[in-house]
Amino acid sequence: MTRLTPDTALADLDWVPRNRLTALARLGLVTLGDAVRHYPRRHEDRRRFDRFPEEEMDRPVCLFGVVKTTAVKRIGGWKRMVEMVIEDESAGVLGQPVTCRWFNLPYIQKMIATGDHLVVFGRPKKRGHQIVIDHPEFEVIEEDEISIHMNRIVPVHPAGDGVTARLLRSLIDQALRQTDLALLPGLLGRAGAGVFRAMHFPASFEEIAQARRELVREEFFSIQVVIQSRRAEWRQLSGSAKNVPGVLLDRLWESLPFALTTSQRGVIAEIRADLGASRRMNRLLQGDVGSGKTLVALAAMLLTVEAGWQSALMAPTQILAEQHYLNFRRLLDPLGIRVALRLAGRSENSVPGDFSGVPPEKREAPPPQIIVGTHALLYDSSEFTRLGLVVIDEQHKFGVLQRARLIERGDAPDVLVMTATPIPRTITQTLYGDLETSFLREKPAGRGLIQTAVRPTEKLPDVVDFLRKQIEKGRQAYIVYPLVEESDKLSAKSAMAEFEKWKPLLAPHSVGLIHGRLAPDEKEQVMARFRAGELAALVATTVIEVGVDVPNANIMVVENAERFGLAQLHQLRGRIGRGAHKSFCILLHDPKVEESAVEKLQVLEATSDGFEIAEADLRLRGPGDLIGTAQTGLPPFRLGDLTRDSEVMLEVTSLAARLFDEDPALEKPENAAVKVFLADSRAKLAASAG
Ligand code: ADP
Ligand code: MG
Repeated sequence: MTRLTPDTALADLDWVPRNRLTALARLGLVTLGDAVRHYPRRHEDRRRFDRFPEEEMDRPVCLFGVVKTTAVKRIGGWKRMVEMVIEDESAGVLGQPVTCRWFNLPYIQKMIATGDHLVVFGRPKKRGHQIVIDHPEFEVIEEDEISIHMNRIVPVHPAGDGVTARLLRSLIDQALRQTDLALLPGLLGRAGAGVFRAMHFPASFEEIAQARRELVREEFFSIQVVIQSRRAEWRQLSGSAKNVPGVLLDRLWESLPFALTTSQRGVIAEIRADLGASRRMNRLLQGDVGSGKTLVALAAMLLTVEAGWQSALMAPTQILAEQHYLNFRRLLDPLGIRVALRLAGRSENSVPGDFSGVPPEKREAPPPQIIVGTHALLYDSSEFTRLGLVVIDEQHKFGVLQRARLIERGDAPDVLVMTATPIPRTITQTLYGDLETSFLREKPAGRGLIQTAVRPTEKLPDVVDFLRKQIEKGRQAYIVYPLVEESDKLSAKSAMAEFEKWKPLLAPHSVGLIHGRLAPDEKEQVMARFRAGELAALVATTVIEVGVDVPNANIMVVENAERFGLAQLHQLRGRIGRGAHKSFCILLHDPKVEESAVEKLQVLEATSDGFEIAEADLRLRGPGDLIGTAQTGLPPFRLGDLTRDSEVMLEVTSLAARLFDEDPALEKPENAAVKVFLADSRAKLAASAG
């Protein structure tokens, strides 16, 4: 039999039902290759089914039985319930039947008839004397079933509207038989045929595990070749060596009321060595909230300026850009350094230029030496006449690809990326495998302690009392609400409602409101008033999450804290504990929330170590939530899981790194396949980033 290529369209195959093509496409299945890469969600052992349960269980069971009765029952109003009783034929009269129930899915009844044989999968519960399974997965088995659906380990694929798991199973079985699997794009080549068969229709569970591992390796490798190729390219670019005595630095340090921490000094030395070398710097600085990253950035910028180059700092939000700008001006105006602020709708220069005696047509301000801004900088770069350094603050808010875009500039600037989200090692390797890494491990001394308390919302009155007392002592507070990224509109609305609630509670002290829907200058005004101490409390959405620095604010109340991830709460909490006063973080949760959610929050009561929290978060939620795809610019993995498969990721990373060490441009003939794979992976990554 001649086999078909993987890019053969399903629409061109007469055995694929016409009326299912659209539904298949909705699942991403357009070609044979797509079908082969549509991996099962789980496998079911249909060689030996579970016994019909007699008690409630905490895990799902897989049963094979015959349908005794089906009925539709009314359950109040217009609601209907389909109820079906199945029995184990082999158990005879003593067997305990199981009742399956579906609520408000009346069409289910049409799919099942008395006497049908059925495979059912779901978790049994006890209701009165009955054992019931609500909304089980089920599949009707034909009389003379031998084939792929019975008496073996059976794949259950992600199904969709109009496409059942059963239909997919047949389709994928056919696709595996008809496709020349050695031609599938990817790295598995000839070996691939066996891997794909084992993944879908394994002879044993060990086979699945092995096949999965192969596929995860390939999947991770497709990310790592891209990252490591970038690193290889980067290494070949030469930048400019910026060796300076550091006069500006010395003057800055003299003007500070405190000494640098040992960590800060160490990292600045690393950066200084990078800047002084002719190779371009490409460095990631990880430091917990409040560890003093800004000064490190400033040091790098000053060294660059002293060498006669411009430096740019990109911040993820306008508030942050504004804050950095003000902070830099305070520190740099005395040194006579020209700083500029560039936001989407606004720009400002610290030195407008001295126009006395200059004819109007020649009135040009001298170019700024340091430029602070938001993403807008990415697009409008005309201003950089001689860009020597780009600092990207709070990198986790930028996509990997955006970063690439800014730094692929002609003048080959050095790059320093800073992040406050402590990142577990696997993820660092995945997302930042192309960067050298520095850590700020210690925090400046003399920081106020933060005490964290997890409480149910009913305690709000006590919290208000406490807040009022602190405010009367001159302190300030943040009151934070969740619901942000998904719907700005919704969160703005709830923040506004909460604002109205808090005003009388804290009167006569004044309360401010800040959320993502405010115009940039409105946001800045509110922040300015808060910073100046005119507002005692600030009701906010997570726009204040990153970087905001108001040392006098020592209280944070987070409502519905259970809706945030731990890493995000840790970020938020980093807004306080910045001054000398003791700080308090009160995490209020919905009293109805599960015990486990409360326990999760209590991790924050127990530790303030960002790395510990990040690892806990990764364990509890998985990497998808920790670093959303939108933020990373990475497509979601189909099979791989950075928690479960972290070993594989580390292995693949060093494999890819070695590959590029030996053959940076993949020119050796034996690397030809990898080169094609790289091009393909790059295209996919770019497509997924939109
Ligand atoms: P982050 O690492 O979260 O960006 P910042 O750079 O905003 O932290 O620093 C937080 C605060 O700590 C700022 O007010 C900053 O001036 C102060 N700070 C930085 N370094 C030191 C130090 N060595 N000693 C005391 N305070 C410091
Ligand atoms: Mg910061």
